[in-house]
Amino acid sequence: MTRAFRKIPVARPVLDEREAEAARRVILSGWVTQGPEVAVFEKDFAGFTGAPYACAVSNCTTALHLALRAVGVGPGHEVITVSHSFIATANAIRYCDAVPVFVDIEADGFNIDPDLIEAAITPATKAILCVHQLGMPCDLKRILAIAARHGLPVIEDAACATGSEILFDGKWEKIGKPHGDIACFSFHPRKVVTTGDGGMLTTANPEYDAKFRLWRQHSMSVSDTVRHGSRDVVFEAYPELGYNYRMTDMQAAVGREQLARLSEIIAQRRALAAGYRHRLEGVSGLCLPKEPAWARSNWQSYCVKLPARSDQPAVMQALLDRGVSTRRGIMNAHLEPAYSDGASSRIASGMERSVAAQEHAIILPLYAQMDDADLDYVADTLKDILSAGG
Ligand SMILES: *Cc1c(COP(=O)(O)O)cnc(C)c1O
Repeated sequence: MTRAFRKIPVARPVLDEREAEAARRVILSGWVTQGPEVAVFEKDFAGFTGAPYACAVSNCTTALHLALRAVGVGPGHEVITVSHSFIATANAIRYCDAVPVFVDIEADGFNIDPDLIEAAITPATKAILCVHQLGMPCDLKRILAIAARHGLPVIEDAACATGSEILFDGKWEKIGKPHGDIACFSFHPRKVVTTGDGGMLTTANPEYDAKFRLWRQHSMSVSDTVRHGSRDVVFEAYPELGYNYRMTDMQAAVGREQLARLSEIIAQRRALAAGYRHRLEGVSGLCLPKEPAWARSNWQSYCVKLPARSDQPAVMQALLDRGVSTRRGIMNAHLEPAYSDGASSRIASGMERSVAAQEHAIILPLYAQMDDADLDYVADTLKDILSAGG
């Protein structure tokens, strides 16, 4: 090797003086949680996605909880989703004392297979929770048609999909417009936009939005901003059970900076993904992620399926030994001990593709600061390991 030992992480947030200055400005303002910065970040995000309403919360898991509750998911209900997702997707359904009903993913991707949804519907089904896994839009057109036939609301787990786009009625639209009833986003550092932790709900339904705003702050009838601006003494009431799912103003200020540079970050990520495809196309048995003609991914992750003969942990270790960090692909909730009792979820189709994806997929490094030499190094190292029988 000509190169000194490199260390290539799997992901890296894009954060610099702009975000640091934004957080500093808020700290010195004296208003540090769910105040003016949060309100402006919500406006910015609504403008960015084209959503009529956007409500900021503490993370995407709490966003999913509020979304499910808003559409009426409660004890005894079922929600159709995938097992093949970060565990928060299924956990949020259980927070509502409802049952996640798992169907398998598509043959050539990591998103829900719409063909399996209809057979999973029962009289207890209350909603469909679809995931735009790794930033790749799922087949919303088909999912929404099925939901409409059965009168079911659709919630989009768009945790990874800030800035991803879908071709809808001949126009490119941002995920989160929303196309379903509610979309939920994450701003964890592993996603494309980060505020440390953070989440957002978008909807076109003003009643849902009003509920999110009530519930995120303990269902307090008078918000802090209203009380602060009032000339009269105001007492609040608590009409129903609420939560503390607030976003801080430091987070919101950082989020505004992230959003302002998002188009540039996504252009870089799309170029990097194209760079991987160019370098890895034709490697025997290696399956590269496909972008349908109607989707534009933000490439939150670049996830490849190793050849069937490959030993996933061994390949990952060999890459790490040569300085390349990877992660296994998406996990399956139904295989985790937290779901092993058989009563807390229901499996409504074969799970072969989900299981195979967990066993064979690995996530390659992709972050905006990568250059061509990094891409070459990762691709060449992976090719080397696979051709040596890995
Ligand atoms: C990251 C992620 C979540 C959870 O987001 P948090 O902001 O960490 O709560 C939920 N669903 C999916 C698909 C995710 O990738």
